[in-house]
Amino acid sequence: MMNANEATRSAARVLARCDALAEISESAEGLTRVYLSPEHMRANAQVGEWMRAAGMTVWQDAVGNICGRYEGAEPGAPALLLGSHLDTVRNAGRYDGMLGVLSAIEVVNWLHQHRLRLPLALEVIGFGDEEGTRFGITLLGSRGITGSWPENWPAVADGNAITVAQAMTDMGLDVARIDSAERAVDEIAAYLELHIEQGPCLEQADLALGVVTAINGARRLNCRFRGEAGHAGTVPMTHRKDALAAAAEWMVYIEQMTCRYGQQRVATVGTLHCPSGAVNVIPGETELSLDIRGPDDAQLNELLSDLLVQGEAIALRRGVTFEASEYYAINATACDLRLQQALSAAVTQVQGRSLSLPSGAGHDAIAIAERWPSGMLFVRCAGGISHHPAEAVSQPDVASALQAWLLAVQNVAAAFAPQASARQEAV
Ligand SMILES: [Zn+2]
Repeated sequence: MMNANEATRSAARVLARCDALAEISESAEGLTRVYLSPEHMRANAQVGEWMRAAGMTVWQDAVGNICGRYEGAEPGAPALLLGSHLDTVRNAGRYDGMLGVLSAIEVVNWLHQHRLRLPLALEVIGFGDEEGTRFGITLLGSRGITGSWPENWPAVADGNAITVAQAMTDMGLDVARIDSAERAVDEIAAYLELHIEQGPCLEQADLALGVVTAINGARRLNCRFRGEAGHAGTVPMTHRKDALAAAAEWMVYIEQMTCRYGQQRVATVGTLHCPSGAVNVIPGETELSLDIRGPDDAQLNELLSDLLVQGEAIALRRGVTFEASEYYAINATACDLRLQQALSAAVTQVQGRSLSLPSGAGHDAIAIAERWPSGMLFVRCAGGISHHPAEAVSQPDVASALQAWLLAVQNVAAAFAPQASARQEAV
C-alpha cells in the first residue's frame, strides 16, 4: 500500500506534470493540443521520458499513442493496460485525460521503487485522440489498439483540408502501418482508466472517488411539429394549429417524465427553431432536437418510446403533425463487473465507502471495452467543470486516487493473471 507520505509526494508530482503538459499547447492563451500536431509529438516525448524514469520500456505506436511497458514477474506475461488520452478540446482543462496517464505512471513508479513485479505486466498508454477535436472523428487512438479504424478514416480532413493520412506523414508516421498498432486479444488481460468525473455527483456526495458502472448510451433525434401558420390577430384561439405551442407542451413533458424515470437518465432539447417565425404569425412549423442518454440501452429505449408516443398524442390532440428521425445512436458501454468490484474494494479501503455512478461523457474505454474487460475510476473535480480552463482537482483527492489506483491494480493483476484463471478452472 502506498503510504500517506508517498501518496502526497506522488500527487504533487502528478499535478506538476499536468501543469507541464498544459504548457504544450498550440496557442499561448489556453490549452489546445490536437491529434497529430507538433504539440502531440512533444507531449508524447515528454510522457515517454517520464515512463522511462518509472522503469518502463517505451515506444510510440503506429497511430501515435505513446506506450510504456513494465514487465511482470514472468517476462512476456499479458498486460494490464492503464491509460487515458493526451489530446484536448480547444481551450481545455489540464486534467481531462492527462490525469489518468500520469497517475498510471505513478503506480508503475511506486512498484519500480519498491522493486515489485506483479503477476501481469503493466502497460501505460497515452492515447493520441479521444476528443475528436481536429478531424471530427473520435477515439482514433483506442481504435488503433483494437484495430477498428474504418477504411475511410485516413481520408478524413481537418478544417485546413489536411487529411489524417497527410498529418500522419507530416509527423513521421506511416499510414500503411496503421494495422500494426492493433493488439492481440491475449496480449492484454484488462483495461483500467482513471479520469476526472466531469460532473457534480462525487462533489455532491462529498467523496473524492467513485467507480463507473457504465458509459452512457445516447440517442439524438431531429423532431418537427407541423401545424398551420396564421394571422396572430385574426385566428381565434380555439381555431389554431400552433406548432410551437405543441413543441412547448412536449418539452415540459420530456423534462417531467425523464425526472420520473430516475436520476440516471437525462434528456435535453438543445435547439428550437420556427423556420418562418415572426412576432405576428402563429407558428406553422417548429423544429427541435432531442438528446437522451443513460447507462442502460433497454431503459433508454423505453424512455425514448414513451417520449415519442407522447409527442404523437400531443400532436393529435392539437390537430398538428409530429415526426422524429434518429440521426445518431451509440450503445451504452457496461464496465466489467469484476473490475468494478476490485475498484470498489480499493476505493472503500481508502475513503471508507464507495459510490457507483454512470459516466455521462464518452471515454477511450468505449473502444477498448469492445475487446477487453474495462473498468473506470472517477476522481472528483471542482464544480463538475470540465472542457474549460477552470477544470480543477485537489491534491488530497489525487493522493487518495493514487492509493486506490495502486490497490486496484495489484488486486486486478492477481485476479486476471493467467495462472489465476487456470487455478479457477482447475477448481
Ligand atoms: Zn477525457
